[in-house]
Amino acid sequence: MQRKPYVAGNWKMWGTRAQTRAYCPRLLELLPPPPQRRADVALCVPFTALDVCLEAVRGGDVRVLAQNMHQAPEGAHTGEISAPMLTELGVHGVVLGHSERRRDHCETDRALREKLPVALAAGLEPILCVGETEEEREQGETERRLRQQVWEALEDVADERLADVVIAYEPVWAIGTGRTATPEQAQEAIAFIRALVADRSREAAARVRILYGGSVKPENAAEILAQPDVDGALVGGASLDPESFAQIVAAA
Ligand code: PGA
Repeated sequence: MQRKPYVAGNWKMWGTRAQTRAYCPRLLELLPPPPQRRADVALCVPFTALDVCLEAVRGGDVRVLAQNMHQAPEGAHTGEISAPMLTELGVHGVVLGHSERRRDHCETDRALREKLPVALAAGLEPILCVGETEEEREQGETERRLRQQVWEALEDVADERLADVVIAYEPVWAIGTGRTATPEQAQEAIAFIRALVADRSREAAARVRILYGGSVKPENAAEILAQPDVDGALVGGASLDPESFAQIVAAA
């Protein structure tokens, strides 16, 4: 099964509206048009930059995603944003379960289990992030942790919709640390995640795109992306520079 590569830039809490207006045209200049470019490309930007980003990439195929979403359609949830609010803007999808949200904002597997079907029903493409901490890896707990995260988050997603979820394997110890997983570590964990999806549906496992994230840079992207189960990258720091991000896209 040929899966189309996918490279998504996660700006985190960077990117004012003015910076977004400057960044997008530069990135579009640098990206080869689709026939020469194999990968799907996405920008996951702060809520306040979504409309500016959508406007700046209008007419092209660059996807614009939010970085989080509440599971309720509306309600007394101060500071939160719902799926209908994102679809109203024309947003393509949403990052769910990033380790920074799990660590700093009490995001749980239980909440993700509710968020995934809501995102899919709203027509949003979810990028579900999973990954072990350094301590879990050292204690040989990586597979147990990944199994728990993947199974629980996907529990209420119907088998026919599993391949509409994008999964990002992001070992916590590799995020923003400059310590990338080796290509072999990325391949091994992503093949394991694909096998977890296969326990639900072999067909979905062959189609689902699983990305690697954690200190991906132009210098290491090609080697990681060449692994057979690695379908792309979720890029944090290096996506803030359009030149670096375009080089990573070119490596996919
Ligand atoms: P990084 O972040 O590329 O800066 O390590 C990746 C991520 O958190 O998605």
